[in-house]
Amino acid sequence: MKIICIGRNYGAHAAELNNPVPEFPLVFMKPSTALLVNNKPFYLPNFSNDIHFELEVVLKICKNGRHIQVEQADSFCEELTVGIDFTARDVQQKLKEKGHPWELAKAFDNSAVLGRFIHKDSLPEANQLKFSLLKNEEVVQNGNTSDMIFDFASIITYTSQFFKLQAGDLIYTGTPAGVGPVKIGDHLVGILEGIPLFECEIR
Ligand code: ZN
Repeated sequence: MKIICIGRNYGAHAAELNNPVPEFPLVFMKPSTALLVNNKPFYLPNFSNDIHFELEVVLKICKNGRHIQVEQADSFCEELTVGIDFTARDVQQKLKEKGHPWELAKAFDNSAVLGRFIHKDSLPEANQLKFSLLKNEEVVQNGNTSDMIFDFASIITYTSQFFKLQAGDLIYTGTPAGVGPVKIGDHLVGILEGIPLFECEIR
């Protein structure tokens, strides 16, 4: 399986990091070794002093497809959750300045926290989902998928022009504003439509 991630998909988040709003989805990937599941703790890596949380809605692809048409895109995802795209912001800043790829800042071990999946039939419309992140019981990110620049169908259509999507692949669909650093002892909880779907302690 592969993990596809979309960057700068919420205008307010692009603005908070002084990035332009993209014309096409900004795509990067994480390897399967990035997954952190079952509410396991996250250990701060030694190569960064500025690990940021980015809460994102995550799609699970349910069947194989290439060159997927936008009208068919919805049928390629049946389950959703929320997760965190942990980012070594200091490492990323250096890579960006050099025009280098982002993998060292984005694809490291355990950088993809994944919540418990929910069937989309038990959720509101995919383009009107509310999600939030609690850090030490305070809301630090509050998103609504209606604010996405590229909706789920557009993301599935666009990425499938380049990569064959396979059942089990995950797509992290971008983070809203409010990203910030974590430190040892922080406790994170990811919530989708009022339902807590993961928790993660920073160690
Ligand atoms: Zn992200």
